Amino acid sequence: MIKKVGIPRALLYYQYYPLWMRFFKELGVEVIISNPTNKEILNEGIRNAVDEACIPVKLFHGHVLSLRNKVDYIFIPRLKSVNNGEFICPKFCGLPEMIKCSLKDLPPIIDIEIDFLKSKRSLNNIILQVGKYFCSDEKQIMKAYHKALTEYKNHKELFKIRENLKDKKKNILILGHPYHLYDTYLNMGIIEKIKDTGIHILTPEMIDEGDINEQANSFEDKLYWTFARKLVGSTLHAINTKGVDGIIYISTFACGIDSVVVEIVEKVIRNGSNIPFMLLTLDEHSGEAGVNTRIEAFVDMIKWRDNYENNLSAHG
Ligand code: SF4
Repeated sequence: MIKKVGIPRALLYYQYYPLWMRFFKELGVEVIISNPTNKEILNEGIRNAVDEACIPVKLFHGHVLSLRNKVDYIFIPRLKSVNNGEFICPKFCGLPEMIKCSLKDLPPIIDIEIDFLKSKRSLNNIILQVGKYFCSDEKQIMKAYHKALTEYKNHKELFKIRENLKDKKKNILILGHPYHLYDTYLNMGIIEKIKDTGIHILTPEMIDEGDINEQANSFEDKLYWTFARKLVGSTLHAINTKGVDGIIYISTFACGIDSVVVEIVEKVIRNGSNIPFMLLTLDEHSGEAGVNTRIEAFVDMIKWRDNYENNLSAHG
């Protein structure tokens, strides 16, 4: 019988889903992704996660619960490091434990550890470990992984900016973790709302990774967190290419990483440019009307600056 693996549509699903989905499918596994976030998933997540967790982690709980009776396994890797020499948020390391403690009667969890600080050989071992849940042939597992990796790289290429930003009337860079930017329930469709005003949107995923790294490496301090490197590198790229008219950072309440990264990003913008900057911090109580008002005001201010450039402060 074909086995089913559940992947919660939350956290780094938004970055790695082409890789994970293709890998499992190549091994003949049926992949079930939880539904896009909705009120019920959010409420279940809030009800079942520890109070101190950030909203994306609470949401992850809700997505796992929604898969509970539909799959044979749930894939919750323990992510320690996804780039050599860097770390990601500690919440990702403890995610499988958090889920097992908070949620009962779950199917078996595939909770292998992914740690790029270890050797390439151990990465191959990790891939074999996951694959062996479904297939005993090591060659076939590695073949599935290489196909998945190619699909993932192609997918990243599709995101890249193809047009010249200077040809666009106005551009806004939207910063944030992938699950802040692409979970449209969590962020209340901010990206679409801004696009509807005629403004072109740029996200870190659309900037060439080589450019981001080059800019991040030029930063005065070493950036040890993957999220920080990506967001600071994207900000510096936007400033140095003079390609954007505004920068919005989407964060969520109780994000420990952002409490530091936002401060760095804001300092970089203020020291190196006069680009307007706005921070939107969302939580489960954020009202859509308030978010809409702030977006409208920010967009209006960017448009008005064309006429009154010398009179309007970039920073409120
Ligand atoms: S980076 Fe922030 S939002 Fe993401 S899991 Fe960690 S604390 Fe939560």
